[in-house]
Amino acid sequence: MGRLRSKTIQVSTYEYVLNYLEKAAKIIDLDPNVLKILKEPRKVTMVNLPIQMDDGSFQVFTGYRVQHSIVRGPGKGGVRYHPGVNLDEVKSLAAWMTWKCAVLGIPFGGAKGGITCDPKKMSPHELERLTRRYVSDLMGVLGPEKDIPAPDVNTNEQTMAWMMDTYCMNTGQYTSSIVTGKPVVLGGSRGRHAATGNGVGLSVREAANMLGMDLSKCTVAIQGFGNVGSFSALSLVSLGAKVIAVSDVNGALRNKKGLDVEALIKYTKENNGSIVGFPGAEEFDPQKLLRCKCDILIPAALENVITAKNAGSIKAKIIGEGANGPTTPDADEILFQNGVTVIPDILCNAGGVTVSYFEWVQDRMGYFWSEEDVNHRLEEHMVRAFNDVRRVAREHQCSLRMASYVLAVKRVSDVLLMRGVYA
Ligand code: GLU
Repeated sequence: MGRLRSKTIQVSTYEYVLNYLEKAAKIIDLDPNVLKILKEPRKVTMVNLPIQMDDGSFQVFTGYRVQHSIVRGPGKGGVRYHPGVNLDEVKSLAAWMTWKCAVLGIPFGGAKGGITCDPKKMSPHELERLTRRYVSDLMGVLGPEKDIPAPDVNTNEQTMAWMMDTYCMNTGQYTSSIVTGKPVVLGGSRGRHAATGNGVGLSVREAANMLGMDLSKCTVAIQGFGNVGSFSALSLVSLGAKVIAVSDVNGALRNKKGLDVEALIKYTKENNGSIVGFPGAEEFDPQKLLRCKCDILIPAALENVITAKNAGSIKAKIIGEGANGPTTPDADEILFQNGVTVIPDILCNAGGVTVSYFEWVQDRMGYFWSEEDVNHRLEEHMVRAFNDVRRVAREHQCSLRMASYVLAVKRVSDVLLMRGVYA
């Protein structure tokens, strides 16, 4: 993805976010004053974090936390560690969280954080110091009723444990609801680790039903094999589909008969997270993954990978956006014209934040649910959201993406107008 990213770094992803917002605003005839408010994030914080490296030298890393909206509830959203992190990206991701939480009907606004760093080149101790300094410097911004971080690209349960500990040490109180996606022993929710992938599987299942496609006859290609890609693969296999191709930053694998996903996950754990060298599959050029012959395509890596250049050669009938923002608006248009059903990120990958909501609820009541309970509630939420979006798409004769934006923008705007603007 590194190479793909640097090629697309010139584009402003936030312009894309605004493009969809403006289109949705037109469809619902949104109050222009509300549109003005929703176009800008409510709070942008940037911090420069001096960190002592293991060799004794210091490096200064730039971190961000953007709250796009706290209209429907406290800010909610992950924190990403990646060399490509920049303000434009974090603003976009924060806005997508606002729309995502609104589509799912969960009581949060939208926020996102990120640190520009290369975690693959840092030791666990360096990452711990960076995480703790980030939270220390954001003590006034974060809070269980203010803004609640979670994992995203290159952050995980361990990162959340350090964040929670730093927050609690600073306040002198045990407040597990300050972050979600924590280890279960620290008040994490059962089912959270697999939730984004499970949600992708459920929304693809609903889309396949809608199109009259039999999942047990469907082939799947997945770009990205981190948390989202790997659990989407497992979920789709459990629903009967066959995963025939996957790629990650290091390479791509294919097997027409279907990859053994469980064995592949085990292999990546033993091989520094990489899929390369996995036996029982043929390696191929990762650039070809998006256009490989398959029924379902899951982009589960980074933004802006499906562009006007490659959208026309995509053969899948369903695209389930596991990543945030993988499709540019002009590519989205081409896919719509070509009859490809795109399940947009703000619906498709919302399983993660939905179980984050369950985690926050469980933490606040101090009573924890079984995994079956969590998965059952996740399914209820995903199916309800899918049906809501489908209804709006039918009503306005538009794509599932436009319908998701219409639904979300209307939900946020209704609450904003009800609360009124304090001026
Ligand atoms: N980072 C995830 C996302 O983009 C999860 C956010 C959360 O759980 O708050 O949806």
